[in-house]
Amino acid sequence: MEGLTRWLTIEQLSEAASYLRRGDVVAFPTETVYGLGANALDAEAVRRIFAAKGRPADNPLIVHCHDAAQVATIVEPWDAVVQRLMDAFWPGPLTLVLTKKPHVPLVTTGGLTTAAVRIPDHTVALELIRSAGVPLAAPSANRSGRPSPTRAEHVRDDLDGRIAAIVDGGPTGWGLESTVLDCTEVPFRLLRPGGVTVEQLRSFAEVVTDPGVYQEPKGPVRSPGMKYKHYAPECTVIVVVGEGLSAKIKELADNDAKDGKDVGVLAFSEHGGRYSGLLTLDLGSKYRLQEGAARLYHLLREADTLGLDTLYVEGMPDKELGMAIMNRLRRAAGYRVIVT
Ligand code: AMP
Ligand code: MG
Repeated sequence: MEGLTRWLTIEQLSEAASYLRRGDVVAFPTETVYGLGANALDAEAVRRIFAAKGRPADNPLIVHCHDAAQVATIVEPWDAVVQRLMDAFWPGPLTLVLTKKPHVPLVTTGGLTTAAVRIPDHTVALELIRSAGVPLAAPSANRSGRPSPTRAEHVRDDLDGRIAAIVDGGPTGWGLESTVLDCTEVPFRLLRPGGVTVEQLRSFAEVVTDPGVYQEPKGPVRSPGMKYKHYAPECTVIVVVGEGLSAKIKELADNDAKDGKDVGVLAFSEHGGRYSGLLTLDLGSKYRLQEGAARLYHLLREADTLGLDTLYVEGMPDKELGMAIMNRLRRAAGYRVIVT
């Protein structure tokens, strides 16, 4: 669709809901990132999401529901362990992959017999789903491959003229997409790390981490989203990890600058002083990784706004929220990671 995109406030949700009911797509805030929603049970409406984003048809969408009763209309009955996960983490940034009910269109699930479901922890998202009266299939509201949107303006930059409306609910909270856990086999499998950490999940169930969380997948993947370029700005991103990361970044960035390149460093607040003479973007405190999570995508977009050729990024240990941030950084970097 090419046309006018309506910019709506959170007081105008009934207008957004009416677009959804007639089969159009609408971007809305959640506690993770902005989602691009359409009626999950209407194959034509869901196709409009794929078209607007330029998303490959085999990359399935997460179905957002407002309560457990609505979840039960999408997936087959679940067991007691899954119920405990729902009780502990919903509403919240945990997506569960379960067996889909037959009436859920295959376009929504990218051709799979499973469906990913979650209940978002955001009043605007919940109110919109309730008011539309249908579960909403909603991937992140960015052009496919780009950093996910954490502000309504990011959605406009990517999708203006391609969707019916954008609901502006201000910056999102978590800033990273939900954790995705495949519960269709035991042990459960972490397909994407997010705000709910694997350490938290393991107090409820045995969880294995899919290798695709760490590495570029080579063969078939359990989560189709893993094989596509994602989260990447236009500039070259290079992640540096290990004890000597600051010295390495300084050396590489200084060399690039001498060659006339526009370089930047994405560094923790505590390390800003290590990169004198270089343009530094602030990832927040290394002791409060939720700051980095919340601003990561905005900073990746900022790197392009500043016209950088290369952005060097301080890596961090793959644990707790650092696991989700590193997963996004590796992909934004096209897996260019330097270990010092
Ligand atoms: P996004 O919609 O951009 O947040 O991406 C959704 C992620 O969830 C992608 O990585 C998908 O591959 C993954 N996903 C959604 N549904 C399923 C499913 N049924 N099985 C496995 N992964 C899924
Ligand atoms: Mg996405």
